[in-house]
Amino acid sequence: MILLASCNSSTSDSGSGEATTSDSTATVGLDTSLFLDGALTEEPTTEDCTLSGGAETTCFRITVAGYPVDREVGPFCPATITDGPDAGGIWFDGDNLYDLDGAFIEGLAETYDDDGWKMYDDEGNVLVTETQAEFEAAARPDVDPALANHCIQGEVAWLDNGEPITSEVLIPTTPVAADEATSAQAVLGVTLDGVRIDASAPVEQILGAYTIAAFDDCGGHFNPVEGYHLHGAVGCSEVGEALDGETAQFGYALDGYAVHSPYEEGEAPDDLDACNGHTTDDLGYHYHANPASENLVIACLVGQTVESEDGGGGPPGGGAPGAGAGG
Ligand SMILES: [Zn+2]
Ligand SMILES: [Zn+2]
Repeated sequence: MILLASCNSSTSDSGSGEATTSDSTATVGLDTSLFLDGALTEEPTTEDCTLSGGAETTCFRITVAGYPVDREVGPFCPATITDGPDAGGIWFDGDNLYDLDGAFIEGLAETYDDDGWKMYDDEGNVLVTETQAEFEAAARPDVDPALANHCIQGEVAWLDNGEPITSEVLIPTTPVAADEATSAQAVLGVTLDGVRIDASAPVEQILGAYTIAAFDDCGGHFNPVEGYHLHGAVGCSEVGEALDGETAQFGYALDGYAVHSPYEEGEAPDDLDACNGHTTDDLGYHYHANPASENLVIACLVGQTVESEDGGGGPPGGGAPGAGAGG
């Protein structure tokens, strides 16, 4: 066994002991120092791991806090149909992104061309989940019909023990390419401020039950099982400055590649691949999130991931219809 000598030289100042890596290519791979203070509830550890394509390598085991450490969550649902956009969050359904304001609630029947919608009472108050029991009955794939025409919102107090739900993930310390890209799993990655990035919200079931599973302005919401989690990237959780022609990083995908914010419409370069990633001199390979409207932060992963420990596959019925990210 070899012990690596640590350089605790008392003469400070000269940083010449630092390894200097090749300067032509960017170092790709998860940098645990990018996570904001408190975003990881434990010090990351490394361990041997076997990846989906059979690669034997080393992985970080990291645990995200289950809430964004740099902001408050919410608001989610507006209280009345005259509330403006500040009173609520956003809604996206795979096609469009909406401000979740009073006008949106009032206009649901028209937006979705279905007279079954009426999510407010005669005084114009929006019907929202008001108790933990209502939240638990509504924020699940088989929504309790009694909660039809409710705007679903949760809060930390309604989770088990009234605390955020942490998530532990294994991410390769250095990404390993897969033979072919794999599509969305239940968890796509984590944000640098402590939130897990989930696959698509089950919009068909949600809308089919005449509910809106409201997102806050950062594209996240609560459910009883996962706590607060993200479905849409809108520029929150970013760390550091965006380079020229780039957007800032806000997370890591489960294969270890960085995830950057979406490009503004019309500004995406034409070298993005099917997973919305590309390689640049400064950043190496990285993804750009899809626009939040697509309800899918990353459509596929080009790197190998750790098979989930419960042996389970993806989410039941997961996978949105191919939202092509064509260049
Ligand atoms: Zn969700
Ligand atoms: Zn880029």
